Amino acid sequence: HVKARGKDGYRFYSESMNIDTVNRLSLERDLRQALENNELRVYYQPQVCAKSGRIVGLEALVRWQHPDRGLLYPKDFLPLAEETKLIVALSEQVLAQACRHVKGWILDGNRDLRLAVNMSPIQVEHPRFVENLIRQLKNEEFPASHLEIEITENVIMNDLKQISQKLQQLADHGVRIAIDDFGTGYSSLNYLHQLPIHTLKVDQSFIRGIGNGEDDACIVNAIVAMAHGLRLDIIAEGVETDAQLAYLRGLGCQQIQGFLYGPAQPPEAISRMLDGQRVRAVV
Ligand code: C2E
Ligand code: MG
Ligand code: MG
Ligand code: MG
Repeated sequence: HVKARGKDGYRFYSESMNIDTVNRLSLERDLRQALENNELRVYYQPQVCAKSGRIVGLEALVRWQHPDRGLLYPKDFLPLAEETKLIVALSEQVLAQACRHVKGWILDGNRDLRLAVNMSPIQVEHPRFVENLIRQLKNEEFPASHLEIEITENVIMNDLKQISQKLQQLADHGVRIAIDDFGTGYSSLNYLHQLPIHTLKVDQSFIRGIGNGEDDACIVNAIVAMAHGLRLDIIAEGVETDAQLAYLRGLGCQQIQGFLYGPAQPPEAISRMLDGQRVRAVV
């Protein structure tokens, strides 16, 4: 009896493994194609000034318009892109698209508009990370001071010395550096005054707890207070409700990103939002 169960178990396991392997291989093939056929789309999520309600930044968030499977999200393909190192080529395409769109909007009159782009650990660890990034900005004629790169705490803790040199070089070119998902990584706070960091992004898990659990609100209070003390900018991620916005405003949190102001959207929709904002500003 035990043996039979074991056998069934084994067969079941091995079939599901096969399906996974086939899926994986076809997804990898598709992803290579996607890079050749320009199937990646960059969507943009507004980062809004808490006081004025104006869009001050846009975070580039990659989507994949798959020919059969429809619109795919980062969770569906980024892990594979990282395993296969295709992330390096993918990131170049994302940055190229994003530079073109945002440069257009800056030239259209949104003069202080900032572009935020996520950086994968694989990409950052690449020996020519800084060189490649700066070369791309030059090629696209995109002003370095309008770019904010987002890295997570885990990237920093991997190799503090290397990272510190790379970030300093980027900062010397005027690139801004944000810590994404702040408060969720395995890291000490020590790096905050050793690295050229401009912005902390409070992770959405803490924001979600505002109004629900005392603990999360306490953590948000502490992060915002610390950012003020260290003169860092702060962006609250995943803000969905007016109550959360009011609370964050009360703390003096400068920037808000979340469904309350809108999800990541294609460039056409962002153009309309920016146009509306300019009209309002003139009136
Ligand atoms: P992230 O950088 O922390 O981006 C925020 C994620 O939260 C985005 O998911 C965004 O759509 C979602 N989000 C924004 N506001 C809200 C909200 O109010 N409520 C909720 N529930 N969610 C909200 P998305 O686009 O699926 O991206 C997931 C992650 O994938 C990103 O997390 C980032 O780590 C990674 N990613 C996205 N695009 C890129 C890229 O071009 N390159 C790299 N290396 N990573 C990327
Ligand atoms: Mg991010
Ligand atoms: Mg985040
Ligand atoms: Mg994240």
